[in-house]
Amino acid sequence: MSNRVCGGLSFTFCMVFLYLFMMIDLHTHTVFSDGELIPFELVRRAEAIGYSAIAITDHMDASNIDLIIPRVVKAVQKMKPFVSIEVLPGAEITHAPLQLIPELVKEARNLGAKIVVVHGETIVEPVLKGTNKAAIEAGADILSHPGLISIEDLLLAKEKNVLLEITARKGHSLANGYVAKEAIRFGAPLCINTDSHSPSDLITKDTARQILLAAGIEENRIDSIFENAKSLIDKVLRRN
Ligand SMILES: [Zn+2]
Ligand SMILES: [Zn+2]
Repeated sequence: MSNRVCGGLSFTFCMVFLYLFMMIDLHTHTVFSDGELIPFELVRRAEAIGYSAIAITDHMDASNIDLIIPRVVKAVQKMKPFVSIEVLPGAEITHAPLQLIPELVKEARNLGAKIVVVHGETIVEPVLKGTNKAAIEAGADILSHPGLISIEDLLLAKEKNVLLEITARKGHSLANGYVAKEAIRFGAPLCINTDSHSPSDLITKDTARQILLAAGIEENRIDSIFENAKSLIDKVLRRN
């Protein structure tokens, strides 16, 4: 990722620059679900606002998983040589019956999704109780907006190294304070994503930092949260 972002700059300078200033966002939507932009425009806007990496994770269930992922994989492959940021095809398994979550996570990966998110038990939607647990057990990479996640599920997320999401998204973000406090108390790993649906939802890393502080997270923990997203990207790129 660094070579493409920083071009001819020295490796050390580049890494410091990436680490300090550039946003990683592993949960976004396009017109393939309920987002407003096509993948090329979403990525261009992310590049322009100062991202170093983005995952495209449209809402999916059994009806559209095999339609969307190959299209997004194709768009990502086509744009890859010509964009300066890392772009990862992904999926957000959304409102699935608990019993279908494991096979949908597996199918998403088989179809080429590098980042698999499961739409967690946000307090602003009637997400099925048990979705958080099923997502973690199924080996999702990220549990988005997990709402009032239980202690049992926090411990399971820690054990399985599933990232729990602090979100910039209105509504879902109402539980950010709880998620932050309990994840830190039980040692479960956190990340921060935008869940962008519109161009104006993309944020700078500085705004992400402020959202983490506003969730009650202490300054000295914030870098480790950004580091979790970076480690996940390194892990999924190594998988291939
Ligand atoms: Zn949505
Ligand atoms: Zn989402």
